[in-house]
Amino acid sequence: MTVDRLLPDQDAKDLIELTRDIADKELARRVDEHERAETYPEGLFATLGAAGLLGLPYPEEFGGGGQPYEVYLQVIEELAARWAAVAVATSVHTLACFPVAAYGTAEQRERWLPDMLAGRIVGGYSLSEPQAGSDAGALTCRAERTEAGDYRITGNKAWITHGGIADFYALFARTGDRISCFLAPGAAEGLTFGRPEEKMGLHAVPTTSAHWDGAVIDGDRLIGEEGQGLQIAFSALDSGRLGIAACAVGLAQAALDEAVAYAKERQTFGKRIIDHQGLGFLLADMAAGVDSARATYLDAARRRDAGLDYGRQASVAKLVATDTAMKVTTDAVQVFGGYGYTREFRVERYMREAKIMQIFEGTNQIQRLVISRHLAK
Ligand SMILES: Cc1cc2nc3c(=O)[nH]c(=O)nc-3n(C[C@H](O)[C@H](O)[C@H](O)COP(=O)(O)OP(=O)(O)OC[C@H]3O[C@@H](n4cnc5c(N)ncnc54)[C@H](O)[C@@H]3O)c2cc1C
Repeated sequence: MTVDRLLPDQDAKDLIELTRDIADKELARRVDEHERAETYPEGLFATLGAAGLLGLPYPEEFGGGGQPYEVYLQVIEELAARWAAVAVATSVHTLACFPVAAYGTAEQRERWLPDMLAGRIVGGYSLSEPQAGSDAGALTCRAERTEAGDYRITGNKAWITHGGIADFYALFARTGDRISCFLAPGAAEGLTFGRPEEKMGLHAVPTTSAHWDGAVIDGDRLIGEEGQGLQIAFSALDSGRLGIAACAVGLAQAALDEAVAYAKERQTFGKRIIDHQGLGFLLADMAAGVDSARATYLDAARRRDAGLDYGRQASVAKLVATDTAMKVTTDAVQVFGGYGYTREFRVERYMREAKIMQIFEGTNQIQRLVISRHLAK
C-alpha cells in the first residue's frame, strides 16, 4: 500500500515521490539477491548520494537537503519498506555526519561536510566496544596526544555498521579520564577491521569490529572540545534513534502490506482468510500498531523541528516503533501460515530484521531507562 502522507509542502511531496521511484527501481530489484548472498550493493550509496538522499536534514549551504526531520524520517521509512539494511546504513551515515555538522568548527564543516552530505564519502559511527555497548561511558579505546599535536589511537571498537567500507568514522575514544569525538579516516596505518559478523539479518551491509593499533590521526580531526565526546555521542543518538524508529515503521508497513495482500488471496473454509474475523482482527491490530508507531516518531520529529526538547519523545518513538515492528513482522509470518516460515516469502526476513531494531542505538531497556529518568526529574 502506498502510504498517504501528510507532508508540509510540495518540495516534500516531490522528495517522497523521488524516493519511491528510487526505492522501486534500485532497491526492490536488488534486495532479495543481496540479502541472500550477503553481498554489499556496490554503487547503491553513490546513487542515493547523487539523488541527494544522504544529507537530507543538514544545511543546504554545505550541500545538504535542508529538510525538516519530519520529512527526512519519512524518506528513511520509504527506503526501509523496500530494504531495511540500506535504510539503516543511510540513517547511520546521517548519524555519522552529526558531530561535524553540530559541533565542528567552520573550517571543519567547510572541509568535510560537502563530500559527506553529497554521499561522495560514506560514514560509520564507532561508539560501541566489545565490553561497552549500553554502558558507552565504560569505553576504553584511547586517543593520546602526540608531541606534534596529533592523536595516537589504541583499542578495539565493535559492531560498526559499514565497518571496513566507510570512508570516515565518527570515533569515540578516551583522552585521559574523559571521552572525545574524532572524525577518523576509514584508512590509516594501524587500523584494521575484523571479518563481517555473521548476523541474523541485515546481511547486505557489513557490521565489523575495528582494531586501532597505534594509528595516528591528525590533531584537527578532534570534533568539539576534548572531553565533550559523550555529550556529542548522546545528542547524536537522540536524532539517530529517530532514524531507527522510522526504519522500524517502514519494515512493519512492508510486513503489513504483504500480509494483507496474502490474506486477500488465500482461501480456507470457502472464503478468503481476511474474511475470517480472527484473522481480519489480527490484521487490524497490525495496522493500528503501524499507524501509532508512525505517529510517535512524527511527534518527536516535529518537536525537534520546532526547537523543543525531544529526547524523551525520541526514546518513546524508538521503543514503540521497534517493539511494534517485532510484533507486526511476527504476526505477518502467522498470516502466511507454514509458507511464512520459509524463505519463499519476505516476511521471515522482515521478522529477523525487526529484532535488531530493538537492540541497536540503545536497547529498548535503555530507552526505558532514558524515559524513566526524564519522568524522575
Ligand atoms: C547489527 C548491529 C549493528 C550495530 N551498529 C552499530 C554501529 O554502527 N555503531 C555502534 O557504535 N554500535 C553499533 N551496534 C552496537 C549496539 O548499539 C549494541 O549492541 C547495543 O547498544 C547493546 O550493547 P551490547 O551489545 O554491549 O549489550 P549490553 O550492553 O551488554 O546489554 C546486554 C543486555 O542487558 C541489558 N541492559 C544493559 N544495561 C542495562 C540497564 N542499565 N538496565 C536494564 N537492562 C540493561 C540490555 O538491554 C541488553 O538486553 C550494532 C549492533 C548490532 C548487533
